[in-house]
Amino acid sequence: LKELAQKQETTNQELIDYRRKHLGKSLSLQYKNPIKIVRGEAQYLLDQYGQKYLDTVNNVAHVGHENYKVVKAGQEQMALLNTNSRYLHDQINILAQELLQTLPQALNVVHFVNSGSEANELAMRMVKAATGLKDIIASEVGYHGNTNMCIDISSYKFDGKGGKGAPEHTHIIPLPDAFRGKYRGFDSGSKYAEEVQLQIDAIHKKNRKPAAFIIEPIISCGGQIELPNGFLDKAYDYVRRAGGLCISDEVQVGCGRMGKTFWGFQLYDVVPDIITMGKPLGNGHPLAAVVCTQEVAEKFANGMEYFNTFGGNPVSCAIGSAVLQTVKNEGLRKNAQLVGEFLKVELKALAEEFPIIGDVRGQGLFLGIELVDSKKNPLPDQTDYLVDRMKDHHVLMSIDGPDHNVLKIKPPLVFTQENARELLCYLKKILAEDFMKSWVD
Ligand code: PMP
Repeated sequence: LKELAQKQETTNQELIDYRRKHLGKSLSLQYKNPIKIVRGEAQYLLDQYGQKYLDTVNNVAHVGHENYKVVKAGQEQMALLNTNSRYLHDQINILAQELLQTLPQALNVVHFVNSGSEANELAMRMVKAATGLKDIIASEVGYHGNTNMCIDISSYKFDGKGGKGAPEHTHIIPLPDAFRGKYRGFDSGSKYAEEVQLQIDAIHKKNRKPAAFIIEPIISCGGQIELPNGFLDKAYDYVRRAGGLCISDEVQVGCGRMGKTFWGFQLYDVVPDIITMGKPLGNGHPLAAVVCTQEVAEKFANGMEYFNTFGGNPVSCAIGSAVLQTVKNEGLRKNAQLVGEFLKVELKALAEEFPIIGDVRGQGLFLGIELVDSKKNPLPDQTDYLVDRMKDHHVLMSIDGPDHNVLKIKPPLVFTQENARELLCYLKKILAEDFMKSWVD
């Protein structure tokens, strides 16, 4: 690593200066004093000085950074052949089969694409083709990707900085946040489902019908919001009765991260018409997919070819297979469940000791810790402080939520109980620091 550091002589400041001038002006950087990562290994990242950081952020490096089997699968296939999906190839069929084995029978047609945004973009096209409609219902603070259509259904963007509010065909329900939302408590599901019905009614008033309802099973950018009991099944029911389709955005939560279940929607005992997946599927390689019912797939195939230059190429598919096999063979879903449960219980104990932790929520290795004062007002400065101090202890964490006060924990699934203990130990230490108590009223 020393050799590597010598080879990479550019200082961090030089890299920052060049970025500022010549890379996209709206790209952001993590931390006031950004770090340069030169290597990854399992749940760890290393900077140019060989310093090791525990990664609790990266839900893309699903089976571990630079996982040997995944890297090898990609290298071997890349050396042999990479081409598009217009030729027959075993690998694309194998990956489709492996994915479908994890899903209910009704969901059995796969389209491979290259990113979560592309997956949701395609889902929107499918919805339009299948229903002939274009009104979409989505959640407040939801994020579904960076393309035009995806931004149009992402309140996180159009209601945030630089945004211009909801477009005419987008209909937003309040964030179904049982802790601090419009309705509170885990029995608030029916009330939030009524909000979906209200949007359907509003669409009807315009003499139109809803095309689809899209939501994540745990709303990630919203601050790891678990959907309250009874919400999703009722919401799906209302949407379907009105002639719309139901989409589950599994880009962040899918592929075993939930622990109890392989996919997020399975937590709520519903079956969507379309699911979109991305991030973890390629373990860092751009691979994503849309899975839908035969009926939707047939309506989408209306004569216009769907072609995607890179989607479903043999290299991406070999990598996807290696990821799914690793999750299965190494029991990573079970690990997410066990380590996630341990962490959640211990974080709740920490909340007893430090009332700044207002809520601990999530499933498996997809958890959120919300920092608030005694009146449930958000504490973004303290959240920033905590994340910066955790970095001093070489633990990387991220923040989200509309008020920037929710710590997110979504590490590679190889995260161990020992890692969880280390995380808890530093959290406890920093929570006791003066700045963390500076909100006391
Ligand atoms: N959906 C969700 C829920 C996401 O979190 C993201 C990315 N953060 C996307 C879609 C878009 O995925 P990508 O960045 O791979 O295009």
